[in-house]
Amino acid sequence: MDWNKIRKIDGHIHILPENKRLEFIKYQGEECIWAKADIETYVDLMDKYNIKKAILQPTNDMYMYYSARETNEFHSKIIKEYPDRFMAFADINMNGSYILDGAPYELDYAIKELGLHGLKIHPNNLGIDADDLRLVPVLRKAAELDIPVMYHSNPCKTGFHDSCAPDKINKMIKVFPDITFITAHMGGMKYLDAFSGCTWVDISFILPELVMLYGIKQTNRILRMFGADRLIFGTDYPECDYKSYGSILNQMDFNEEEIEKISYGNIASIMNI
Ligand SMILES: [Zn+2]
Repeated sequence: MDWNKIRKIDGHIHILPENKRLEFIKYQGEECIWAKADIETYVDLMDKYNIKKAILQPTNDMYMYYSARETNEFHSKIIKEYPDRFMAFADINMNGSYILDGAPYELDYAIKELGLHGLKIHPNNLGIDADDLRLVPVLRKAAELDIPVMYHSNPCKTGFHDSCAPDKINKMIKVFPDITFITAHMGGMKYLDAFSGCTWVDISFILPELVMLYGIKQTNRILRMFGADRLIFGTDYPECDYKSYGSILNQMDFNEEEIEKISYGNIASIMNI
């Protein structure tokens, strides 16, 4: 089976609002990663690599996107324009104590009025820990709405990046047994903590890093350790590209049934597709 050709759902991609994309080009040049984050370029790639659906993920970052309401509206417009091709997780903002009632309200609006499909929490960009009690109201709302929640988890670099550590996400997984959580990026370089604690993980962004660090065989062992029942295909496009994901995944030893789960079945069951 060729990963470039089989049907896939990409559980984790980014399309930028046009003015934000142009800002990246202005400051980082035409060749920068985020120059590719436009809908036309991406839809061509979907056709080329047999991506049946992609899930638009916000980043809880008002500078990269907009405020939560506007970001959710931006994503809602895309899913209405391409109803068979895109789904979207809702954005929230950290706006002081307003997060306690503002975030649940925005989430309710995003799901019921705008037609979005899940909640994305990016602890680093919110500036709070993944297990911060201020997230309890919005998580209760997610449970009430019966939608999945994706946590960004790639503790790296300096500063407060450990706020998205898998250990902290795992606490919330235990506290909210009525929510389906996806830990993004397999917990990054803390993948062992994600393995021992978290439930679903997406393989976005981290896969080429694992290969660079450990080589193909060890990457295969790490993916095998999680197993086909927990892995969700995702790239974090435009951060990573389908060509490199396809060539890495083609070297893993998953059988046909396992590949179907990772590439499509697992996320399809979570999203009720
Ligand atoms: Zn991402």
